[in-house]
Amino acid sequence: MVSVSREVPAPDGLGTDVIGVTEGSPLRLDLRLESVMEGVLVSGTVHATATGECGRCLTPVQLDLELPLQELYAYPEKRPAADVDEDDLRELEGDLIDLEPVLRDAVVPALPFQPVCQDDCPGLCSECGARLADDPEHHHDVADPRWAALQGLLPTEQQHDNRREPTGSRTDAQEEN
Ligand SMILES: [Zn+2]
Ligand SMILES: [Zn+2]
Repeated sequence: MVSVSREVPAPDGLGTDVIGVTEGSPLRLDLRLESVMEGVLVSGTVHATATGECGRCLTPVQLDLELPLQELYAYPEKRPAADVDEDDLRELEGDLIDLEPVLRDAVVPALPFQPVCQDDCPGLCSECGARLADDPEHHHDVADPRWAALQGLLPTEQQHDNRREPTGSRTDAQEEN
C-alpha cells in the first residue's frame, strides 16, 4: 500500500452555479493506493474550500470541505493483477490517476443547494438593501424619500384634503380683503 499526500490545483467544474471550488485553488489529497485483485483501489480524503454567495444576503460564503473518496481503477484485462507491486503503485502515483471525475462525484453532491452565510441569515432589508445580520435592530421610521415621491403620485385621501385646503384658505383671504 502506498500513501500519497499532495496538493493539486482544483480542476474545472467542482461546483454548481451558486457555490464551488474555484478552478486552480488548492486541493489537498490524502490518498491510499492499494493493490487489489481487480486493480488499484484509491481511497482517502479530499480537503478543499468552496466559495459562493449567501442565497439570502449575497455575502461571500466559504465552506471547508473534507470529503471521503474511493475509486477502483481496474487494470486493463490483459494485465495480470498478480504482477503489481508497490513500485507499480508508485508509478501510478507519479502519473496521478485521473481523479477529476472522482473529485467531482465527491465534491458536487456535498455542496449545499442554497448556501447561506449562517443558518438563520435574515437576508437584506427590502427597503434599502442593508444586510440585516449586521444590524439586527435595522428598521425604517421614516419612509424612504423615493417612496415618498411615489406616494405623492397616488390619489390618496390626504392628497384630496391638501388640494382642498389651499382653495379654502384662498377663499378666506378673499373674504378678508
Ligand atoms: Zn446571508
Ligand atoms: Zn433598510
